[in-house]
Amino acid sequence: MAAFFFAQAVSIREDDLARYIGSVCRLCRRENLKLFLKGDRCYSDKCAYDRRNYPPGQHGQRRSKHSDYGIQLREKQKVKRVYGLLEKQFHSYFKKADRQRGITGTNLLVLLERRLDNVVYRLGFANSRTQARLLVRHRHFAVNGRSVDIPSYLVRVGDVVELKEKKRKVALFVEAMGTVERRGISGWLELDKEHFTGKVQAFPTRDEVTMPIQEQLIVELYSK
Ligand code: SF4
Repeated sequence: MAAFFFAQAVSIREDDLARYIGSVCRLCRRENLKLFLKGDRCYSDKCAYDRRNYPPGQHGQRRSKHSDYGIQLREKQKVKRVYGLLEKQFHSYFKKADRQRGITGTNLLVLLERRLDNVVYRLGFANSRTQARLLVRHRHFAVNGRSVDIPSYLVRVGDVVELKEKKRKVALFVEAMGTVERRGISGWLELDKEHFTGKVQAFPTRDEVTMPIQEQLIVELYSK
């Protein structure tokens, strides 16, 4: 019975991750990696992971040995958390990647990178993907001149993503553009800082997804 309730709690927690309201820094410590979920704070000396880079909780500092399944699961959780996705959404990206030609793991990462909220973040208009998602939902951006409020919108080569003109004087965006160099712009995107626009030059290559991800572990997990 206890196991049943535990399983229920885990599944609720899993499906609720996109609306996770706990400390996001705990997620970085859980995944043993800086996931950059908190914008400017991630680059400051207040970063919780830099201060305590061991898993959260009472037994966080204990050494633990993971099974192959555990390692694969953690890798999947890590990527889900980086892009802020629900299990169902993530799985549907995987299925789409699997149907495409080429290497499934690479296809998966490219699909995730093509999300509009990620592109807005990568172009430096937002400090985190969470913030980027909200800004997209609030209709601050247009793609090829048309307003888009769907964070999961997949950009294509040649697309131009722009901040709407009337928002360009908002302090949030002016400041974000001022600090964009710190993060660096991915090679597959071209930013025009002056006009608050970005162009998708190409789809990202595997090397351009710089977050340390072992995507083959996710492929192995879903192939069971
Ligand atoms: Fe992670 Fe550090 Fe950012 Fe917190 S501040 S979300 S620990 S990278």
